[in-house]
Amino acid sequence: MRILVVEDEPDLASAIAISLRRDGYAVDVAADGTAALDRVVITPYDLVCLDLNLPDTDGLDVCRQILAMPVADDAPVPRIIMLTARGSVDDRILGLDHGADDYLVKPFALGELSARVRALLRRDTTVSSAVVERNGIELDAGRHEVRVHGVTTDLTAKEFALLRWFLLHPHDVHSAEKLLEHVWDEHADPFTNTVRVTLSNLRKKLADAGAPDAIETLPGRGYRWRELQLA
Ligand code: CA
Repeated sequence: MRILVVEDEPDLASAIAISLRRDGYAVDVAADGTAALDRVVITPYDLVCLDLNLPDTDGLDVCRQILAMPVADDAPVPRIIMLTARGSVDDRILGLDHGADDYLVKPFALGELSARVRALLRRDTTVSSAVVERNGIELDAGRHEVRVHGVTTDLTAKEFALLRWFLLHPHDVHSAEKLLEHVWDEHADPFTNTVRVTLSNLRKKLADAGAPDAIETLPGRGYRWRELQLA
């Protein structure tokens, strides 16, 4: 899951980014509306945390432009959470009218943002709690835990994020490029084989824990979650 944080207060932007990265998301930061739109044009974000009060443009305007952008067939329209210092009911309604999915009034607790982000990102799926379970592999996003057949398995932050992506999109085929876009942030070097290496380590850990072949390779197309057929 890849998130863009649009916030012009550097301390707040960095605190939000650190907190969301700790939750296992890939996070980029933009300090104004122009930088935000420049990024959204080239990167398919799953969610945008958008400050309403930006130095160059109105956050509402940025929100409208993001939602009006054409997206590729397999890319989601980003979810938008407005961050606003304006507490009046009118401004909140205005934000939701402009297509924002949710809003938080500053100051807010980072844990609250975390919970809202989680809720919005699972709205696209049939998953109804912070815990996703498939084929005996259980991922608890709230507690940052993965259990394979009930036993806790240690994963790196990237392996965790990659596994979550597969669990939340179990029927799609994901190219390495698509995984790089959604699970890594702008600091990932597209010319390294970071996706292949992380995927291979994740597969090995799952196999060691008793869940081999959880992710299949479709030659020339990419990778897909393998749903076990129950007898
Ligand atoms: Ca601001």
